[in-house]
Amino acid sequence: MKKPQNAEILSVGTELLLGDVVNTDAAMVAQELARIGINLLYAGTVGDNPQRLEESLRQALERSDLVVTTGGLGPTKDDLTKETIAKVLGLPLVEHAESRRRLEEYFTASRKECSANQYKQTLLPEGCHVLPNDHGTAPGCVCIADSGKMVAMLPGPPSELAPMLKKYLVPFLQGEDTTVIYSRNIRVFGKGEGVVAEAIAPFLEGENPTAATYAAEGEMYVRVTAKAPSKEEARRLCAPVVDEICRIVGDAVYGIDVDSLEQVVVEQLLRQEKTLATAESCTGGLIAKRITDIAGSSAVFEMGAVTYSNRIKHERIQVPQELLEKYGAVSEPVARAMAEGVRRAAGSSLGIGVTGIAGPGGGSKEKPVGLVYLALSDGQQTWVTKMPGGGRIGSRTYYRNRAASTALDMVRRYLEGKLEQMKE
Ligand code: ATP
Ligand code: MG
Repeated sequence: MKKPQNAEILSVGTELLLGDVVNTDAAMVAQELARIGINLLYAGTVGDNPQRLEESLRQALERSDLVVTTGGLGPTKDDLTKETIAKVLGLPLVEHAESRRRLEEYFTASRKECSANQYKQTLLPEGCHVLPNDHGTAPGCVCIADSGKMVAMLPGPPSELAPMLKKYLVPFLQGEDTTVIYSRNIRVFGKGEGVVAEAIAPFLEGENPTAATYAAEGEMYVRVTAKAPSKEEARRLCAPVVDEICRIVGDAVYGIDVDSLEQVVVEQLLRQEKTLATAESCTGGLIAKRITDIAGSSAVFEMGAVTYSNRIKHERIQVPQELLEKYGAVSEPVARAMAEGVRRAAGSSLGIGVTGIAGPGGGSKEKPVGLVYLALSDGQQTWVTKMPGGGRIGSRTYYRNRAASTALDMVRRYLEGKLEQMKE
């Protein structure tokens, strides 16, 4: 058997169309196919309706080498996937002795009564390759049409589908072929997807490895993917492209195959044996939250203060009253004083101060919604970053998340010796 080049998923179930059940089966199948280098071309959903299933299946078989269906293999009347597919492929359903034995064994073991309709599950399309169900009653199967195209049927319940897919379908599809798909994710903060895509345009045309840009929450990433007979070979194909993209994108790359900015920050602080404290106003503790999400942060994080009122800014972290009165709480001098004050209060190597207007109210012409000052102090010097705000009005959540990420990125740049003073 030749390994299929491309595939399509056809999920069967009215509950999926009603939005009652989220299609996690399709995601699971998609990930496994990607892992073994089968390109997924389409993924569709159809209700428990034999006519529409037949129509969708015929269409899928015209354009894809392999169709993987999920759901509708059970004992009830509305479980019609196998019957419909057998009809389309012109295959009679025949009793599969081993499946019958397993079904009876399943019911004996679980001390439940085996109702007559259960036996419907032991009828399988003639000549199919059977996929045993180790966690339920309905076996799956793979049929190969005269044209060489394949239809694989998997049961709906994720607890049955996942093991059947991994243990039986994937090895069957792979056969002798061990092609792997290997990806590296280059994480970027501070440059938009559009700008990066333009800068690395030639790589986005590449075939092996391929490169693609993705927007994520407040940031973006570039995924470089290679297909090769082994992981080592795929990694070797990716390496020069990853290096070159990192060189082009520059300092905005904060990590490769890392989970988050905070992960990078905590790891770097640990490595450099430095500690951090934060004084947050508009972010309300978000920076402290994200840092303490990382296991091991207790070794590097001393204190996170939410210094919301002017009184507390003054009393607890010694922001001078004159600065608050002269420049207002949302100002560069106050951000500086917060970073310096919290660093002193905590006795940490670094201090972060954040003050801004997250909106939706409270903005003015001089100080628009979204204006945030962020400062980082190491006791010798203090650096400030200004998020100007104004323009397109984002949500409160957006500004707060973006400010927290910007603060984390300042720490990251500082630790890499790349933090520059703001030019105005
Ligand atoms: P059963 O033997 O349990 O009837 P089946 O193969 O006939 O299995 P369905 O009847 O289509 O599967 O679905 C059974 C249950 O499995 C659904 O009620 C739903 O909870 C879950 N399920 C079905 N399809 C999916 C899917 N695509 N993603 C996630 N869950 C699913
Ligand atoms: Mg069912």
